[in-house]
Amino acid sequence: MNRAREDSVEPTISWSAGQNRAILMIPGPTELPWPVIQAMNQPPMIQYDAQFDLNILEPTTQALREIFQTKDGEVILLPGSGRTGLEAGAISVIEPGERVLTIVTGVFGLLMREIMTRIGAQVTEFSVESGQPLDLAALEKKVEELKPKAITMVHNETSTGATYPAEPVGAIARRHGALFLLDTVSSLAGIDVRTDVWGVDLNMTGSQKCLTAPIGMAVVSVSPRAWEAMERRSRKPGSLVYDLLRWKELWMPVSRGGRVPDGTPRRQPISIPTHLTLAMQAATRLILEEGLPHRFRRHEVASRAFRAGLGAMRLEIFPHPSIASNTVACFKVPNGIEAGAAVKQMRDRYGILIGTGLERFRATTLRVGTMGLTASPLYVLPTLSALELALRDLGHKTESGAGVAAAQSTFANLA
Ligand code: PLP
Repeated sequence: MNRAREDSVEPTISWSAGQNRAILMIPGPTELPWPVIQAMNQPPMIQYDAQFDLNILEPTTQALREIFQTKDGEVILLPGSGRTGLEAGAISVIEPGERVLTIVTGVFGLLMREIMTRIGAQVTEFSVESGQPLDLAALEKKVEELKPKAITMVHNETSTGATYPAEPVGAIARRHGALFLLDTVSSLAGIDVRTDVWGVDLNMTGSQKCLTAPIGMAVVSVSPRAWEAMERRSRKPGSLVYDLLRWKELWMPVSRGGRVPDGTPRRQPISIPTHLTLAMQAATRLILEEGLPHRFRRHEVASRAFRAGLGAMRLEIFPHPSIASNTVACFKVPNGIEAGAAVKQMRDRYGILIGTGLERFRATTLRVGTMGLTASPLYVLPTLSALELALRDLGHKTESGAGVAAAQSTFANLA
């Protein structure tokens, strides 16, 4: 090929040619380990069969209790997604007219506010400026004034890439006799979440992020205090399928505080998706084999490497550095570039899917997940490389390879 022809061809090269799907670097759903995908390759089975309960559902529940770091609580798997878990938790403990303090740090804090409002709670919002730290003293003052039945919080605000301190908020809830409802949809199994130690009464997450299972399950852990709150209600919740107390009545063995004599058949209040449970079983096995401390450290190093790469490419992280998340990086797009155009270029030309920001930050920020499999140089380095090239295509030129080099040296120094 002569030089002139080469030049005319080059700008149209698609580096994703032949790739049948984009690599998921969005903040969930995330890439799945191959054993998790393979676990679903089974003929149909019956969800109420004793073998499914004994060999799959029960061990998966036990593994999840370890991952949730709860000995006192029960973990319940529900068909649905993170939102199902949030709504089930909320509707099970809160009665219409009861006071709830909702900490709103971004889009997912607003989601909890909306859920609580719809179930008839008297909601007071404690707003935190997007990406900024939480003022714990001001929060405690508000709790003292309001005396809410529950405080809700998003541990890792996926919309801004910020992690908030759940432990002191749990302590505030305890001091003031409030239940503590924590959304850990984008943190659990990627960031250290200590359900019992932090006094989390309802810890609500979804399958498709750091748990590295397919989308389709909500996972909720319920503390003894939350069960008591459900039992003390004056009226049953307005939802049958999301009423978590039914799990205690129909499914939990007596030895774990439930009503079903150990060793006798039990019933699932909602039919459990068998294939998704198989996938969850494989995912939890991998998580426990890796070990929680190692896994949290892996996410921390990978996210620090990714952020070092962004810095070297002159890209500014959106949240205050003190609360930058280990599972989601949210950063500003360079002036003059639209976030949607960057996502499209990354996906179409380089085969890597990243996310735009959400709501009012949709056009000005980008979001990348380092979750489960993707919290690794294997995914972080190609993503930085593609990001440099995609932004270069759109007019943001930085020193070639600077982002990858900075991330590489972070991996080398910290791992
Ligand atoms: N809460 C947080 C922090 C999230 O990141 C998400 C989803 O991204 C949700 C709740 C909603 O979860 P789902 O999309 O699984 O319903």
